[in-house]
Amino acid sequence: MNCEEVGRWIGPLLDGELDVRNTAEVQAHLAACPACQRRYEAQAALSSSLRRLDLAYAAPESLRQRIAAALDEPAGAPAHLVSPAKRTPRGVSRWFTLAGWPVALAASAVAASVLLQQRSLESDAIVAAHVRSLLVDHLNDVVSTDHHTVKPWFAGKIDFSPPVPDLSSRGFELVGGRLDYVQRQPVAAVIYRKHGHIINVLAGLPGRGLDKLPQADRVQGYSLRSWRQAGLDLVAVSDIDPLELANLERGYENPPPPAGEPADRR
Ligand SMILES: [Zn+2]
Repeated sequence: MNCEEVGRWIGPLLDGELDVRNTAEVQAHLAACPACQRRYEAQAALSSSLRRLDLAYAAPESLRQRIAAALDEPAGAPAHLVSPAKRTPRGVSRWFTLAGWPVALAASAVAASVLLQQRSLESDAIVAAHVRSLLVDHLNDVVSTDHHTVKPWFAGKIDFSPPVPDLSSRGFELVGGRLDYVQRQPVAAVIYRKHGHIINVLAGLPGRGLDKLPQADRVQGYSLRSWRQAGLDLVAVSDIDPLELANLERGYENPPPPAGEPADRR
């Protein structure tokens, strides 16, 4: 058995799909060939780390099947290399028996599915923060309808200054502010109310749990809308109509001039 052949058998060996005779031959070669031994160890490490990701994030079944279908039976691979009974997406290491490009494809597909799962985990965390704020009577740490009171309240409590625009012209009444935690990261919550609906607007520094959200999402009947503004990640969450969250975002991005001050910007 030469190095090229052994390279093709490493994946099946890791998957326990190799028969006794070939297993013995591959192992004999590995024992005698440091280059193939290194290749074997690298594939084993990568395969087990992919399995861990696979378990932690449980990629959607449909995506797994698409990946598996795309990668099964590559041109030129021995037909018996992939047994039908074992043709499950879990045989991750099998991917590494393929040529370079499908491996890259598989790795990026796994990365994409992990990202998708992280996004929905993030959305879940945002909704959890919103629901918690309504349940445990911890909606506001500072109760004020005046943004000149709410904005300075955050100073010294968190290492950034969240925007607190006056959105009354759009029908959003400022209720107050609060410190909260999302994914164990500190965030600033600014609370508005419209037509009886509470809207939490969470703000955090990039990389602090709010930056992997889709622009709009819907989780458990709640709507989320996220955007980046002034170096901060912001996400609004509420059971209000999603169109109202878009309205609120426009208000954040084009705040009216503070009352009593001239509108001219010079
Ligand atoms: Zn070798």
